Amino acid sequence: MPHRERVLMGPGPGNPHPEVIEAFGRPVLGHLDPDFLSLLDETNDRLRQVWRTANPLTFPVSGTGSAGMEAAFVNVVRDGDAVVVGVNGVFGERMCDVAARCGAEVVRVEAPWGTPIDPEALLAAHPDPAVIAVVHAETSTGVRNDIAPLADRPDGALLLVDCVTSLGGIPVEIDEWGADLAYSGTQKCLGVPPGLAPLTVSPAALDRVVERPRSWYLDLNMIARYVSGEGARAYHHTAPISMIYGLHAGLGVLLEEGLEASWERHAACGQLLHDGLEAMGLELFAAEGHRLPELTTVWVPDDLPAELDDAAIRARLLGDYGIEIGGGLGEFAGRVWRIGLMGHTARRRNVTLFLAALGEILGR
Ligand code: PLP
Repeated sequence: MPHRERVLMGPGPGNPHPEVIEAFGRPVLGHLDPDFLSLLDETNDRLRQVWRTANPLTFPVSGTGSAGMEAAFVNVVRDGDAVVVGVNGVFGERMCDVAARCGAEVVRVEAPWGTPIDPEALLAAHPDPAVIAVVHAETSTGVRNDIAPLADRPDGALLLVDCVTSLGGIPVEIDEWGADLAYSGTQKCLGVPPGLAPLTVSPAALDRVVERPRSWYLDLNMIARYVSGEGARAYHHTAPISMIYGLHAGLGVLLEEGLEASWERHAACGQLLHDGLEAMGLELFAAEGHRLPELTTVWVPDDLPAELDDAAIRARLLGDYGIEIGGGLGEFAGRVWRIGLMGHTARRRNVTLFLAALGEILGR
C-alpha cells in the first residue's frame, strides 16, 4: 500500500493536515529575513493562543518534544534542587532522568501504569520543592494526569508540565493552571510533522533561569534574544524555516477550526473508538475518568486464534489496511495496543475504518 495512504493511528506522528504539507513547499527565506521574522512572531502569537497564555517567552524549540523537555529542566534546575516528579509511565521516568542529569535531588511520586498520579501526593511529597513536574498526557499508558489542582502549590515551586500529547487535543490552560514551564511536540494533536517543540515559560520561571545552563544550544538566556521579537534580534542558531512554515500553517488550521471545536472533535472520536472497542468485547487499559481521547490503550485479547498475536495483528493492519497502531511499552509490550487519534487523524472515518479492519482480523 503506498505510503501516502497510511493512516497514522500510532502514538507517534498523526497525519499532517494537507495545508501543512503545502506550507513545506514555500520558498525558503533567510532566518533573519524580516518576512521570516514576522512569520515567526505570528507563529509565537498563535502558540500563545493555543497554550492559553500571555507568556511573552513562547516559541518552538528547534528539536523534537524531548528537546522541549530538556530545555524546560536544564534552564531552571540547579545542583541539589528538590524536583518532585510524577511517574506513571515512560515519560515521567524520562523526566526523572533529565532532572537528575541537571543535578536535582529527584523525589518520585508514583502511580501504577494505567492510573493517574494523585495531585495531593505531588503537593505533599516535599516541603520546599524547586520544581513540581508532571506529564499531562502519558503517551505510554493513555492516561491524563490532573494539572489544575497543582495551582495551589507551595510558594516558589515552579510547575513544569509535559503537554506533548495534550496540546490541541484536550484542554491545556497554562495561565489558569499557573504552569511555569510547558513543552509540546508538533507531531501529535497539532497535526504537523515531528521536529519542533513548542515551549512556554512564565515570567517567574524566566527570573529563575540559571546563568550558565548545562546546555549551550538550549540556553534560554541566548535563545530569548533571537525568538522574543523584542529589541534587536541576535543570531543564536539557524531556525528550521520550513518546519516553522509547517507549524504556522498547522496552528492556523487549528485556530480556524477553533480550539474548543478541536477538543470536542478529539473527545467525540475518542469516545466512538472506546465504545467500538468495548462493543467488540475488548477491555480498555487506562483508568475510567482519566482516559485520553487522543490516545487509547486497550488490552490485546488473550483468546486470539493460534496464528495471531499482537505483532501479527499490527502487521496485518499495516499491510492490508494501511493503518499504523502502536504496541505496549515496558511490561505491557505485547499485551496492550496504543491507538492514536491525534490532530488531523482524529476523524470519524478513521475510527470507522480502524474498527472495521480490526473486527475483520479478529473475526468479531
Ligand atoms: N513526552 C511525551 C508525553 C511523549 O509522548 C513524547 C513522545 O512521544 C515525548 C515526550 C518525546 O517527544 P519526541 O519523541 O518528539 O522527542
